[in-house]
Amino acid sequence: MSPLTDGLLSTLAARVCSSTSDTYTTVEVFTGGPLATLPESSVADVHTAYERVGRAQRVWAALPLDDRLAVFHRFHKLLLRERETMADLLQAETGKARRDAFEELSEPALVTSYYLRSARRLLRPRKRAGLVPGAVAVRELRQPKGVVGIISPWNYPFALSFGDLVPALVAGNGVVLKPDSQTALSPLFGAELLYRAGLPVDLLAVVLGDGPGVGGAIVDTCDYIGFTGSSRTGALIAAQAGARLVGCSLELGGKNPLIVLDDADIAATARSAVRGCFANAGQLCLSLERVYVPEGLFDRFAATFVDEVELLRQGAGYGYEVDVGSLSSQRALKTVSEHVDDARAKGATVLVGGRPRPDLGPFFYEPTVLTGVTPEMSCFMDETFGPVVSLYSYSSVDDAVALANDTAFGLNASVYGRDVVRAGAVAARLRVGSANVNDGYASAFGSTDAPMGGMGASGLGRRHGAEGLLRYTEVQAVAVKRVEMLNPPRWVPYRVFSKSMAATLRVMKALRLR
Ligand code: NAD
Repeated sequence: MSPLTDGLLSTLAARVCSSTSDTYTTVEVFTGGPLATLPESSVADVHTAYERVGRAQRVWAALPLDDRLAVFHRFHKLLLRERETMADLLQAETGKARRDAFEELSEPALVTSYYLRSARRLLRPRKRAGLVPGAVAVRELRQPKGVVGIISPWNYPFALSFGDLVPALVAGNGVVLKPDSQTALSPLFGAELLYRAGLPVDLLAVVLGDGPGVGGAIVDTCDYIGFTGSSRTGALIAAQAGARLVGCSLELGGKNPLIVLDDADIAATARSAVRGCFANAGQLCLSLERVYVPEGLFDRFAATFVDEVELLRQGAGYGYEVDVGSLSSQRALKTVSEHVDDARAKGATVLVGGRPRPDLGPFFYEPTVLTGVTPEMSCFMDETFGPVVSLYSYSSVDDAVALANDTAFGLNASVYGRDVVRAGAVAARLRVGSANVNDGYASAFGSTDAPMGGMGASGLGRRHGAEGLLRYTEVQAVAVKRVEMLNPPRWVPYRVFSKSMAATLRVMKALRLR
């Protein structure tokens, strides 16, 4: 069924850094059949990759920024030209609908064009005020970290690798990338496009293998770690990186709330919220799993929302006619089924959905809406990471804000209301890294000039915006002393000198010089 050719698959397999003869076979998610056979990397391969990338990085970092950026101009063009192949790969290895695949590949395109526009401004040396005006000149420089390790999950394998890896390379780093083993084809194709665009082949190494082994070796060797995945693994990586005193950014899970305000346009809200809840079959860290509705509007909203869910077209297929694709694996199907079965057994009501769909493919699960969900049910506060959303009623806006904030996570949120100033003020009260007014997630995520990330158990650091690039740099102050000020001449006792220095400090403060 997969439209991928053997030629393409073997070109991609040849790009993996591996010295072993071990291989494994990935699954075409729509059918459960074999998709591609790929080499496995060893811990030793990670060490070799680190050395090789490090050598290439020193040359790359010395290039003028414009020469580096030229590669990404070409990459952007190639990516959009090859978008159908990228979408085929993404669909085959994740089972997502084609519109989700297109949305996914748009993110690295947006990130690339954003840093093409902003990198010169963000990375240029800045003058800083010296110790004494005229006597010391200081510049703040941005040096690359060196070799950045990127570890990414299976749900958005291309976007969550390349959206992070492009700024790392732009900043002058090399990269060792470990995507999830099942979803390595789209990142390998992305690497292929970068090489075609002129990126030195040794500057980006892709390794494949199990999380703790090969992923752990990356955390043990690289100079900075960009990780996207579960909060559980994120905590392990933070501890491991902390023990080596290397920095890391962590983009982790969520249990994201949506608040419908009492002035919301119910029909428009329901239509838009369906996308926020069921894009990528709910396997999106930003996906909305909890919806809070004013008591007086609850029944009307629930009915309208269910109508919208029933319009969703679910299925396997490499065309754009499908709205919701498959879950990505048996493991994901098991978690989703368990959450819904647990909720049903403990008294929740299934308004729509609530069943696997083996007739569509081995891992399909229907878009599902629940009510009557209570704290003893696992879907109440645990991330389901699937097409399951719970509707709750609230009595006042304060109540809605408290309910929305009652979680260890803090990734994304959404507030719907006609009065956008009021809705924006409610959004600002939510403890989340990104909040969208009258949208589910795409407005904040697509606005690459603004930082994205999580509070609390949802992560550390931010992607996108200035921080998305600057996290891959070490800031360095270079100070040039022009006049001797701190060492008094031998014939001046230090007690006298300290008095005159104190007077100077007073004068500089009074004149607002320092
Ligand atoms: P995961 O943590 O199991 O795995 C993520 C990656 O880490 C994989 O490549 C895996 O092989 C690797 N890994 C696993 N254990 C490791 C270890 N000990 N050391 C180093 N690497 C290790 O997560 P997952 O199940 O693949 O992804 C789903 C999770 O990711 C969800 O919780 C989702 O919310 C989260 N996520 C967050 C964002 C975000 O931007 N905040 C985006 C997408 C997904």
